[in-house]
Amino acid sequence: YCERPQCGVVSCLTCRKACPRLKNDYPTDEELAEMERHFICAELADDKQIVDDCLELGQKVPCPQCGLAGRKDHACTHMACPTCAQLWCYFCGKKVEDGTDEKYAHNVDWNCNPNRCPMYLRQIADVDDRWPDNEEDCLVRFHRIRTLGLLREAFDKLGQNRMDELDRHFNIISSSDFTWDEILHEDLTLIRCTDSSGTRCGS
Ligand SMILES: [Zn+2]
Ligand SMILES: [Zn+2]
Ligand SMILES: [Zn+2]
Ligand SMILES: [Zn+2]
Ligand SMILES: [Zn+2]
Repeated sequence: YCERPQCGVVSCLTCRKACPRLKNDYPTDEELAEMERHFICAELADDKQIVDDCLELGQKVPCPQCGLAGRKDHACTHMACPTCAQLWCYFCGKKVEDGTDEKYAHNVDWNCNPNRCPMYLRQIADVDDRWPDNEEDCLVRFHRIRTLGLLREAFDKLGQNRMDELDRHFNIISSSDFTWDEILHEDLTLIRCTDSSGTRCGS
């Protein structure tokens, strides 16, 4: 229901479009078809939520201690949770031990140790030329890969038919920045060594 009392417009909880109000006992065919569509909305609502969550959570990373989602700025990958004070790494999403800001053990030898992460995303370009050399574009790329990973999980969980149905009904993928091909086939390896000296390959 619309919040304004005089308005009286009833809108669909799922797609947010206004539903027709049946004023008399003889609704038109269009009104019936429209109502029918919103019954499908209701039926698909839970699965739509799963995909909406992927699109949203792909743009941030939850604190490993309390789950509060944080979003990195254009500085380093070090995160300090404002709620529980846990220190964590934005790149892998795991807790990190305390250290002076420039000397986190977690960042040492990141280019050859798959359990370590770079302090700045722009450093990745040194070993993997698919990455841009500035922090802002790197962050966009990081969120993109993360979102694709979440969408791929949702696809595996819900199945092709359901995903197609969600897209037909809500344009949920068509209106996003992601294509089916990327969701299903994009290489989501974050760091891929481009030279033979690196040992990080496949992590
Ligand atoms: Zn209104
Ligand atoms: Zn609807
Ligand atoms: Zn926290
Ligand atoms: Zn830092
Ligand atoms: Zn990390």
